[in-house]
Amino acid sequence: MDGNYIINEDKEYIAGTYARFPVAFKEGKGCRLYDYDGKEYVDFGSGIAVDIFGINDEEWKSAVIEQLNKVQHTSNLFYTEPHARLAKLLCERTGASKVFFGNSGAEANECAIKAARKYGELHHGPNRKEIITLKNSFHGRTLATLAATGQEGFHKYFGPFPAGFVYADATIEGVKSCMNENTCAVMIECIQGESGVNVLDRDFVKAVCELCKQRDIILICDEVQTGNGRTGYLYAYQAFGIQPDIVTTAKGLGGGLPIGACMLFEKCGGVFSYGDHGSTFGGNPVVCAGACSIISRITDELLENVRKKGAYLMEQLKKTEGVEEVSGMGLMIGIKTAKPAMEIAKKCIDKGLLVLTAHSKVRLLPPLTIGKDDIDFALKILSEVISG
Ligand SMILES: *Cc1c(COP(=O)(O)O)cnc(C)c1O
Repeated sequence: MDGNYIINEDKEYIAGTYARFPVAFKEGKGCRLYDYDGKEYVDFGSGIAVDIFGINDEEWKSAVIEQLNKVQHTSNLFYTEPHARLAKLLCERTGASKVFFGNSGAEANECAIKAARKYGELHHGPNRKEIITLKNSFHGRTLATLAATGQEGFHKYFGPFPAGFVYADATIEGVKSCMNENTCAVMIECIQGESGVNVLDRDFVKAVCELCKQRDIILICDEVQTGNGRTGYLYAYQAFGIQPDIVTTAKGLGGGLPIGACMLFEKCGGVFSYGDHGSTFGGNPVVCAGACSIISRITDELLENVRKKGAYLMEQLKKTEGVEEVSGMGLMIGIKTAKPAMEIAKKCIDKGLLVLTAHSKVRLLPPLTIGKDDIDFALKILSEVISG
């Protein structure tokens, strides 16, 4: 099998929604991936914040295979042990009351939207359905989560959308001016990933949280990308000194298998009744067994290392010629450069360093286990490409 054959077959048969880089991966281990010519790549993308313990991780694999050898799927008409165990782990680690599992970030957000709307109607009447999101946000690709996404570019061609979403500037005046008695929720990403790793202002986030509390409006934190240790905290909201009512997560949670989680805190813990929501694959036991292995290894020590490695990377990047601005937290980093981000990403990949872009920035999301040598390799390549 060779890479070009795969690339040509893909181009012929896959719906053309992805502008892929011209690389097909055969295998990998840890923070390294190999293409069909045996070329090695150091991974600073983690499959978009997914492979947080790297490729082909032994502990995660054992957990998955052990469950595969028992039962792969039962439907949600029955109980399974990994499903309950993962929910308990997440509740114990965050203080959430209940969890709903779906298969993706978008589904986790769909669940949050339904939970917030039901809470609004139950407590404040049937008109309380409006959700405020921020300009430049990204919440997913389903119709409701696209409607929630505050970026015009994503909306072209696909309307009409579900109603009830308004987009606010990321200022307290901006959010206030969108709020009224019909507002049931505010949904934010503490760090906006897709729009360029923009860290929201801490005082702004706290003020939004306070405003929501005063008016019994549900605060949803979309932690699909920021969650599961990525920022040096289990969930990024914990670094902002706030308590949301709903937290959604996905990407890194499954270690590479598809899962999304909607965590419902005290206010929303009892909001759903039988039949309100569901998913055939949601909480699949194989996926949940793997996710348990992931969550149980995000220890305080690991998180401290993520913060240290992130600080080192950001400090070195700021000194790099051609870097205009560095943003982010932990191992979620955006780099603004004079040259176009896509040009830099292509050159890095050519030189064996996998990086991502986010809007006009280069984005780094390495595995949380990335080592010092790999970090220095990445800094060397980035410096060559950005300044060269
Ligand atoms: C990736 C992402 C989503 C969508 O997740 P999918 O698993 O692709 O549906 C939603 N919100 C944020 C913040 C994301 O980064």
